[in-house]
Amino acid sequence: MALESKSHTPVVGQPSVTDARETVRPATVEELSRIITEAVETKRTVLTVGGGTRLFAAGKKFDLAVDTTALTNGFRHTPADMTATVPAGMRFAEAQERLSQKGQWIPLHPPDRGDSSIGGVIAADRWGPRRHRYGTAKDWVIATTIVNGEGNIVRAGANVVKNVSGYDLNKLYIGSRGTLGIITDLSFKLSPLPAMRTTFRACFSTAGEALTTANEIHRAPLEPEALLMAKGRWTAPRAKHWWLLIELAGSEESVKAQAKTLSSLLEKSTANRWNEASQDDAAFYWRTASLGNDETAPIFATAEISFPKSYTEKLVSWLVEISPGASAKFLPFRGVAIVEVSQEMDRSLLIDEAVRIGGGIEFDGREITSPHDRWPIEPASLSIMKKLKSALDPSDIFAPGTYVGGI
Ligand SMILES: Cc1cc2nc3c(=O)[nH]c(=O)nc-3n(C[C@H](O)[C@H](O)[C@H](O)COP(=O)(O)OP(=O)(O)OC[C@H]3O[C@@H](n4cnc5c(N)ncnc54)[C@H](O)[C@@H]3O)c2cc1C
Repeated sequence: MALESKSHTPVVGQPSVTDARETVRPATVEELSRIITEAVETKRTVLTVGGGTRLFAAGKKFDLAVDTTALTNGFRHTPADMTATVPAGMRFAEAQERLSQKGQWIPLHPPDRGDSSIGGVIAADRWGPRRHRYGTAKDWVIATTIVNGEGNIVRAGANVVKNVSGYDLNKLYIGSRGTLGIITDLSFKLSPLPAMRTTFRACFSTAGEALTTANEIHRAPLEPEALLMAKGRWTAPRAKHWWLLIELAGSEESVKAQAKTLSSLLEKSTANRWNEASQDDAAFYWRTASLGNDETAPIFATAEISFPKSYTEKLVSWLVEISPGASAKFLPFRGVAIVEVSQEMDRSLLIDEAVRIGGGIEFDGREITSPHDRWPIEPASLSIMKKLKSALDPSDIFAPGTYVGGI
């Protein structure tokens, strides 16, 4: 086994591989299997690390950090089937680059500066503005190989787009945050890369006006790839106004026709100003919408809220009322939002509201250190989750006590 350290670029305040007493970097799945078998025998706890940008150690120190970034062999792309198998340690950006050579891609759009691993993106179930059209990892992952808590290499799912028999266990690992096993590869169904993309932005004085226009866009004969409503740190330039960021994608002919329809819709809207962005500006706007416009600016915490789509309007007005200055971004037709939480803000207000509307909430930030602070709403299925965890990780070695409900 290769015992080497690697320079990660963790987000400020996030834990890192230094939260473990020892770091290993296996280069093959067999080597990883031996490491985990030994960890079980010696009762050592394991923190799985991909790009290291989104680790959550819940203030704990682990015996072993397993750096997965050398697990990069075995990339297979079958363009005719529109499927690919990607080793978990491969950088997400590299996988997309390779797939793009044959005009295909995994249509996920996580916040990524280039160092996220494919395993980390799926284990953290990350998404971005293109979730508007493509949904999340659950819509695209078709098979997963893991090393489980007994050191066994186990594959779930198959490289076919529709696999009908048995429980779809492979979906379990999406969002499992390194608590059920170490993902070694993932198979995806793929989407064709659009021949053309173009971005429009429109600025509004109030959240209500932006939402009204978003609804008009949704009802129009348009098929945006992304439709984001944002204010503050996720807009460029950082502004107190609400922005709509809309991306059209498809064939050149279809994008041009849609761009015409969208232009006339925005012209008639209450937007203070709007424009179709140049390609460079568009890349900058989407990067900011994903990563924020100042990574070093102090931010106490963020809350990712999921809610019934029908509740979007009420949630937007409620948030504006309780925290008028806060940055926020919404995917209005997907029922998800990320809002900035200040130190003074009463987090219980957000939690109570999420419970009241039957939604979910996850806090993230340097002072969110316990699983309860991070995931304050206990899921009804927690007891089943605990049973699953002990079936797949009987010795409880994988990141114990770091996930929802203290799993
Ligand atoms: C500037 C910046 C801003 C970001 N903003 C956001 C944001 O607003 N919201 C957000 O949610 N994310 C955000 N991210 C996180 C980003 O999306 C992550 O980079 C990505 O999801 C995780 O990739 P990673 O390889 O670094 O995973 P890591 O950070 O290494 O791991 C993430 C989780 O997955 C587990 N894991 C990693 N690899 C495996 C594996 N092979 N098998 C099993 N478990 C594994 C880890 O144990 C951990 O629980 C941001 C990142 C950056 C750099």
